[in-house]
Amino acid sequence: MFGYREMKILMLGLDNAGKTTILYKLKLNKIKTSAPTVGFNVETVSFRNVKFNMWDVGGQDRLRPLWRHYFPATTALIFVVDSQDMKRLNEAKEELYSIISDKEMEDVVLLVLANKQDLKDAMNPQEVSDYLELKDHLNNQLWCVIGSNALTGQGLVEGLSWITNNTK
Ligand code: GDP
Repeated sequence: MFGYREMKILMLGLDNAGKTTILYKLKLNKIKTSAPTVGFNVETVSFRNVKFNMWDVGGQDRLRPLWRHYFPATTALIFVVDSQDMKRLNEAKEELYSIISDKEMEDVVLLVLANKQDLKDAMNPQEVSDYLELKDHLNNQLWCVIGSNALTGQGLVEGLSWITNNTK
């Protein structure tokens, strides 16, 4: 089909951030309750003229050393953060910087989903952005922080649109 393109999107983040919920919300437009991701889920999501091959790789610490095996050929990274889990935000930040400092990831566009915006006391996208200090650290890479609620799907289409608009 004319103008049709395909891209690999890697979705990473700590366990419990909401990755699996996001993936299945996009895929099926319904909420799937699932056990913590073991290994990985791959789904194809079509949006406008783009076919996203979305890789959701488990975020438990014993699985994180496996993340880098999924880096090659990634166009965009969606890093999902639980905006209410202040205790683990620093851990999320460390993992994020460890991912984007990898040579294979230097050209990817980065979308941070500040997920669980529906929860009381959730940090808003600006606060998540400030906490992660993306503005200070990312000079050459395109990035953006968008708030989301994976249960309703709010923010997800906006996120995918941003990726489509900022990739070739
Ligand atoms: P994963 O480990 O990153 O794949 O996280 P899951 O998708 O399994 O989600 C972890 C828990 O958070 C589940 O109980 C989800 O129902 C819940 N969850 C995910 N996204 C949201 C959200 O936006 N708001 C709320 N309130 N709960 C969410």
